[in-house]
Amino acid sequence: MIKMSLKEAHELAVSCLSKNGCDAVNAQAIAGRMIQAEGDMCHSHGLFRLPWYAKGVKSGRANGAANPSVEQLAPGVIRVDGDMGYAPLGQEVGHQPLVDCARENGIAALAFVNMFHIAAMWPEVEKLANDGLCALAVTASYPYVAPAGGTKPIYGTNPIGFAWPRPDGPPLVFDQASSSMARGEIQIAARDGHAVPETAGIGPDGETTTDPNVVLAGAQLGFGGYKGASLAMMVELLAGPLIGQFLSIEAKADDDGRGGAPLGGELVIALDPAKFGDAQGFLAHGEKLFEAILAQDGTRLPGARRFANRKKTPQEGIEIPESLHRDILDLM
Ligand code: NDP
Repeated sequence: MIKMSLKEAHELAVSCLSKNGCDAVNAQAIAGRMIQAEGDMCHSHGLFRLPWYAKGVKSGRANGAANPSVEQLAPGVIRVDGDMGYAPLGQEVGHQPLVDCARENGIAALAFVNMFHIAAMWPEVEKLANDGLCALAVTASYPYVAPAGGTKPIYGTNPIGFAWPRPDGPPLVFDQASSSMARGEIQIAARDGHAVPETAGIGPDGETTTDPNVVLAGAQLGFGGYKGASLAMMVELLAGPLIGQFLSIEAKADDDGRGGAPLGGELVIALDPAKFGDAQGFLAHGEKLFEAILAQDGTRLPGARRFANRKKTPQEGIEIPESLHRDILDLM
């Protein structure tokens, strides 16, 4: 493993992205998101993705000089066009308009469109909850997950992120794939030679397997069987047809075998609790739920792992596999 500080990791990402065709503002935004993920030890959205991103820009498929634009479609609906760049810059640009719109209307939706690889949902929803809002975010990707009872992939691993503000400290945040496992985690298991749980997926023959390579060649499964599959279906509809963006099957056809990041959209919904009738009480009321959960041995709140890691990594730094470090240097 190669150890580095968060600052060194950030500089490495900026440098690699810049040398492959990103302008400074896009390189900073993308690197910022990657290192935020590394800092929380969410490796599947960290430097692991850097070679893929750099190759996408170098090939000309992703716009390294994207200039995202904001448009108000209705009093409570905003659209941010990512200008065919990677998602982080558009997400930065869209944040404040969404906050303002939610505060004005009580509820607001933001449709992110024409962006490559909308990664983890927690950065979006956590930032909104830090501004006192409740938030929900969804995105689709490529077809990796079979429909309930089927064997061929149709849905993305379609994550759902949710955040709720808290009076002290970071918000309550969960962010989970609707598949049994995130794709990146299966890829990392394949890279590192680890088995995956039997619930992760099936091979091309439709049989369950613990071999990550066989799952990658076959189909992943929704978490909890048909229930996870229905959530994946909902995400496809909200992040695709609702906002005029690709379904996962269409994103794959658009990529046309290039192996690049998926092009598509993200729907983020923000709610201002001050406008829902219990502006004074909702925070304390929510805390009552968290206290009841944490009173039980063996529980923790979602997000707690990331927040604990976030305190450690600025001092301890991060580690990435030597092979990944070499791949990154080879691109520079
Ligand atoms: P996990 O299964 O690791 O975690 C899902 C959520 O559950 C997290 O909020 C986690 O909090 C929480 N959690 C985990 N264990 C517990 C526990 N014991 N008690 C309470 N809460 C718990 O995540 P996934 O593998 O499903 O997804 C990983 C990431 O990948 C997500 O950020 C997701 O957005 C992203 N993703 C992106 C996709 C895309 O197409 N862009 C597709 C699929 C996933 P904590 O973080 O604190 O552990």
